[in-house]
This record gives sequence, structure tokens and C-alpha cells, in this order.
Amino acid sequence: MKDSYGRIIDYMRISITDRCNLRCRYCMPEGISLVPMEEILTYEEIAEICRAASELGISRLKITGGEPLVRPECPELIGMLKKIPGIKQVTMTTNGVALSQYLPRLLENGLDAVNISLDTLNPQTYQQITGKNQLDDVFEGIRQSVRAGLPVKLNAVLQPGINGGEWLELARLTTLFPLDVRFIEMMPIGYGRNYRPVSNQELLLRLKNMYPDLRKDESIRGNGPAVYYRIPQAKGSVGFISALHGKFCKSCNRLRLTSQGKLKPCLCFEEEVDVMEILRGKESAVHRELQEDVRAATRKELLKQRISKAVGRKPREHHFETAEQITECRQMAQIGG
Ligand code: SAM
Ligand code: SF4
Repeated sequence: MKDSYGRIIDYMRISITDRCNLRCRYCMPEGISLVPMEEILTYEEIAEICRAASELGISRLKITGGEPLVRPECPELIGMLKKIPGIKQVTMTTNGVALSQYLPRLLENGLDAVNISLDTLNPQTYQQITGKNQLDDVFEGIRQSVRAGLPVKLNAVLQPGINGGEWLELARLTTLFPLDVRFIEMMPIGYGRNYRPVSNQELLLRLKNMYPDLRKDESIRGNGPAVYYRIPQAKGSVGFISALHGKFCKSCNRLRLTSQGKLKPCLCFEEEVDVMEILRGKESAVHRELQEDVRAATRKELLKQRISKAVGRKPREHHFETAEQITECRQMAQIGG
């Protein structure tokens, strides 16, 4: 599927919950209000949307949240999505706290790769950022995933004065383990607006100074806009996702589906296209009168129309650099980061 700017849209990020077992200060601090469970897409509904999306060319899915592993049966959802014709890859982004517990079931259900959020290697800083003392559980999830041969990417959001000084230690994990480490610039979404980002441009310069033989790693990895470099002899690469200091909108390939059944053309803007309406709205009551096969085909066509509409509404680029132009007001955990 191509959007109005000729970009191929073949990737969808699906938020399956707005709940989380951590309280990262820039994402979901204490006291945030949660959506009632009955307003959240069921797994059957998510699969129905994905069946329609796959017929339009969406071939790669990322399960996110909130924290996807706090929703019961998350591994089985992955199994359901993997069976959809045309879906080539299903990956997940997690805070890693419950990863080791669920890893066997995730692997059984065909998870293709995992992104694990890890902003710090220091237990006190971890507690300061996430509000919890579970760094060892995350390390265990990383260890077991690597041992199982699952492709692993660690994602770090740096904050000056908190974990900003850990960038080199985090980058050097790629010299010790076969995994990639990516630095994501703090985006002015939700509570992220209150934080100053660490510039990836500056980080890259510092990394080049430290390793003059640093080489760009051109092999395509993952679904996103990261640019990768490799420290000589390292086992993995260091990636930079620079929403602010390296606008990557020209290569945007994605749609987002929120846990409440809305398609988001772009993270920066509040505009959404409602698909829940097709599944649960007035029209769906009319569909109930139809024969099962006619009903499924009718709903699929309507879903495809909405998905195409969302793709058609993708803007040329975000405007994170101009605060007044950012119209998305919800938190990252509510949208699906
Ligand atoms: N709970 C899972 C996790 O932590 O990976 C999945 C959801 S979380 C919202 C996905 C990613 O979004 C995390 O890596 C988190 O650090 C990142 N994130 C949250 N708020 C952000 C912001 N304002 N700017 C950049 N990244 C952000
Ligand atoms: Fe939870 Fe992930 Fe947000 Fe942290 S970044 S609060 S782990 S959803």
C-alpha cells in the first residue's frame, strides 16, 4: 500500500493494552487514568483488523503497549497473528520485566524478534526512572532471549543528568553480546514534552571520537528508521533513532493501531481513523443479521476502506520541532509507543 507521498506502508504497530507494570516517568507516571477493559480491542478483533490489513500489504506487525506482557495470553495472540496469510513477521516491544517468564510461550508461538527497553544498567537509576526495582528481571529476560537465539534490540531513551552518562556503557553491550543497542531521542509526546532530549547527532560524534574505525552498518535491520553503526569486532550494532535531530519521515512505513481500535496515521498528530466503529458500532448490529460468510466479507471490506483512509491521511512529515504544531496530547503508553 502506498500513501499520498509514494511511501510504501507495510508495517503496523499494535498497542494491545494501555496498562503497564512499570511507571517510567516520561511515559506513564503514577496516577495516570486507564481505559476500561471493555473499550479495548479483543484479540479476535485485533486479528480481524490484521486480516484486512494484510490484504492491503501490511506484512510486519509489532505488538506494543503499555506493556504487552501484562495482558493475559499475549503469546497466543502472536500465534494467531502469525497464522494470517501475508503476515511475514510478528515482533514485540517490551520492558522485559516478565520476558523470561513468557519466553518459552512466545517462542512456541513464533515471535520473530524482541525489542527490550533498557534505559540504564544501574539499579538505583532504574528505580528512579521506572519506579520499580526490577532491573535483574530485565537482565534475565535479555540473557534468556539471546541464549534462545531470538534477535534482540535494546532500546534506550537518554535523559541528561539521569542516565545520559551511561551512553557508552550501553553502546558497549554490543561488544559483549550478540544484540543491537539503539538510542531513541526523547520525543515531545505525553510527559516526554517535559524532558530535554539528548541529541543523537552528538552521541554519534562522541562514539566516532571514541572509535575512529566505527563503520556504518548498512544491512537492513528491523522495521524502523534507525541508522546503525558497528564498533570494530562488536557482535551487534549501535542504532540511532533520531526523531528530532534526523527527521526520517521520508522513509516512514507505518501505521499505528491503538488499543481502543483507532488507526493513527502519525504519532505527532491527534488525527485517528476509527475501526472500532466497524467492529462494534451501529453498523455491526446490522451485520449480525447477515450470514456468517457475507458478514465477514462485508466487515473486511469496511475495515480495508478505513485502513486505506488512514494511510491516505499520513502527513508528509511530523512537526516535533514546533511545539504548537503537535496536536497529540495523550501519553505514549495510551497511544502505543
Ligand atoms: N512497555 C513497552 C516498552 O517499554 O518497551 C512497550 C511500550 S513503550 C511506550 C515503547 C517505547 O517507547 C519504550 O522504549 C519507551 O522508552 C519509549 N517511549 C516512551 N515515551 C517516549 C517518548 N516521549 N519519547 C521517546 N520514546 C518514548
Ligand atoms: Fe511502561 Fe514501557 Fe511506558 Fe515504561 S516505557 S511506562 S515500561 S509502557
